[in-house]
Amino acid sequence: MSGARRSPVVAGNWKMHLTRPEARALAERVVAALPALGTCRVVLIPPFTALAEVGRILAGTEVRLGAQNLFWEDKGAFTGEVSAPMLKETGCAHVLIGHSERRRLFGETDEVVNRKVRAALSAGLSPIVCIGETLEEREGGRTTERIDAQLAAGLRGLSGGDMESIILAYEPVWAIGTGKTASPAQAEEVHAHIRRRLEGNYGNDRASCAIILYGGSVKPANSYPLFKEKNIDGFLVGGASLEADAFVGIVGEALRADREET
Ligand code: PEP
Repeated sequence: MSGARRSPVVAGNWKMHLTRPEARALAERVVAALPALGTCRVVLIPPFTALAEVGRILAGTEVRLGAQNLFWEDKGAFTGEVSAPMLKETGCAHVLIGHSERRRLFGETDEVVNRKVRAALSAGLSPIVCIGETLEEREGGRTTERIDAQLAAGLRGLSGGDMESIILAYEPVWAIGTGKTASPAQAEEVHAHIRRRLEGNYGNDRASCAIILYGGSVKPANSYPLFKEKNIDGFLVGGASLEADAFVGIVGEALRADREET
């Protein structure tokens, strides 16, 4: 596979936090404090209620808007759900799919993930598809088996062309919101495995270009060594994305590591 560095991506998942005024204030602080991004892509992912508000602040900036979930039908009697075209119309460029909290708390299966990914792609959204093993799976030596199953079912039927629009996020479940981060070597091992799987399924060129983010208690202090790993292309950040300084610090570290290699 070619060794060219892929452009970094840093996405902040605000989860079910922030009122609209709080979301506006955070988005304004992030936008004002971000360094020149160059080819780095930054994505803010607020709750549904703040999408339009944050979208207005991001308009005309390089920072993109993302949503945390969608339903796979375009419209209909699906009370409480939000569709891909609705997100697109609200200004979203990305949507998170298969976050471990959705899988664990709301019973989302890999089949559901696949339906949602297809719906996102049809609407012109770029899905950020989350995969990762639990502590039990890791300790039982089943990490790659779990990753392979999530990739096979979650991406079933998708073409190499589809893969150009998809971002993958490796998020070991045991590292999300726990303060435990995978070591750079642990994360790189799984990222390299994911890329090899993509190569097997879609060929060398697609696999070399695929963006694979790491997520799990990323902070400014641990982001640089993670990003220095060959197959880690950026971060999906939870807790630290709620603090402007921390989130901007992570973007700065990714840019620093990127500059050293290009
Ligand atoms: C996440 O929610 O995707 C995440 C990685 O959270 P945290 O950074 O808080 O572990």
